[in-house]
Amino acid sequence: MPERIPVVEKILSANDRLALENRAKIDAAGLFSINIMASPGAGKTSLIEQTVRALGKKYRIGMINGDILTSLDADRAAAAGAVAVQINTGGDCHLDAVMLHSALNQLDLNNLDLLIIENVGNLICPAEFRLGTHKNVIVASIPEGDDKPHKYPSMYRGADVLILNKIDLLPYVPFRMDFFRQGVEVLNPGVTQLNLSCSSGEGLAAWYTWLESNLTLKNG
Ligand code: MG
Ligand code: ZN
Repeated sequence: MPERIPVVEKILSANDRLALENRAKIDAAGLFSINIMASPGAGKTSLIEQTVRALGKKYRIGMINGDILTSLDADRAAAAGAVAVQINTGGDCHLDAVMLHSALNQLDLNNLDLLIIENVGNLICPAEFRLGTHKNVIVASIPEGDDKPHKYPSMYRGADVLILNKIDLLPYVPFRMDFFRQGVEVLNPGVTQLNLSCSSGEGLAAWYTWLESNLTLKNG
């Protein structure tokens, strides 16, 4: 009997091959790159805006935004000072390595230090598609609730750093930090968790430190 490879597996391995090409291209330009994933409304774009405002004078920052239809988020990043490229996925609920591959061609990578990818707001399939970036950044937020790591394990398992945003809302929203942490620890023991608020600014300094230590490693 012929061996049957499920279609999904085939698609993923083609994706992974292209992700490796993307990585080679990014590395050749000496960039540090992150893939930011989160549910809609967790604060990906706000985090990017704050980051570009804080570090944009010191580092040249490029941003690639995946959105189903609009360029609202890329516009916000551009207004903050990033070089922004928009990918409209035309209904797809995640970015894949093919989409990133064509977006990379639209940026002068040699003139950048940091590349930020804002994935489509979705806690499910973005976790399955490698893009070729160096680190996965997951943004969770207080109003989403404390059960998200329990409900979306593959997203949390793949995080290199976990940001918990909107901590200024803790007094107003029921959120059991212990229950959230328990869920994270089972999936991703010891992962760096940064609690912060993009609107009050609390905790952002630790995020910039994380980013800068990676940038220094990469850019020397
Ligand atoms: Mg956004
Ligand atoms: Zn999807």
